[in-house]
Amino acid sequence: MKKVSFVTIVGIVLIFSMSVLIYAKEAQIEGENLNVRTGPGTEYDVIAQVNPPENYPILEESGDWVKIQVTGEEGWIHKDYFSILESETSIETEEPEQVDDGETEKAKISESKEINQSGNLTGKRIVIDPGHGGRDVGAIGASEGYESLYTLRTANVMKEILEDQGAEVFLTRTRDQYIPLTSRVTFANLHRADVFLSLHYNSTPEYPTVKGIDTYYYSDRDQPLAEYVHEGIISQTDTSDRGIEQRDLQVLRTNHRPSLLLELGFISNQTEEMHVQSIVYLEAISRGIVAGLQAYFK
Ligand SMILES: [Zn+2]
Repeated sequence: MKKVSFVTIVGIVLIFSMSVLIYAKEAQIEGENLNVRTGPGTEYDVIAQVNPPENYPILEESGDWVKIQVTGEEGWIHKDYFSILESETSIETEEPEQVDDGETEKAKISESKEINQSGNLTGKRIVIDPGHGGRDVGAIGASEGYESLYTLRTANVMKEILEDQGAEVFLTRTRDQYIPLTSRVTFANLHRADVFLSLHYNSTPEYPTVKGIDTYYYSDRDQPLAEYVHEGIISQTDTSDRGIEQRDLQVLRTNHRPSLLLELGFISNQTEEMHVQSIVYLEAISRGIVAGLQAYFK
């Protein structure tokens, strides 16, 4: 019971800190393949491209340029190619109460530093794509938790564990934000990802006992990657092995980088959703991915 009250306090702190993140203005993109640059001018490098009808929070203005928050990064776009929306974006704070926040997770991760795999991932560029976000909440769990929040929490845990192994990790989103599939793929391509992992959780409310992990790949080239990563995850978790499968999914088909889509459990299954809410499960999945990637890169 102690834990519940602590989590409640953390929850209050979280709501308070998230209110700081509310952006008053958003850029509604009007130009096709609009370049996002590292600085306010065309002499700066392009780090992403955005497309209509996407909206991005405006962080800062400088002359004819504004800085926007896009897919886990910040960059500049020219004022000729968007219109400004005065939005009253209220950040969704409907995070399920039993889910504790990132700070708690961080504390727990640093306690469990015994993760020590053979080999390492030094210099490997891994793009992690937490599925869904913002108005697209994804699947809704048995306890009404959102897939979009579970994938984000998973990505944060995974990032730390991969970084411990020397990998360079980039997240397509770092907050509860809507990001179109095309932008996620562009992000992977521009970051020259050695591996792109799109994280999801599954749901079949009509069959609430179904559980387990699925791994999808599209290109034949990525079948070995799928096998290694899937095997790694299965070796670290107790859930059902639903196997790997080739599937035509947009984030995989349009991706030039080695890429997988992982369905990391069924949140329509009450027990599995409880696991997904626990840091222990997220660490186990992450260790499995580390093991799989190490085998793949060997
Ligand atoms: Zn999903």
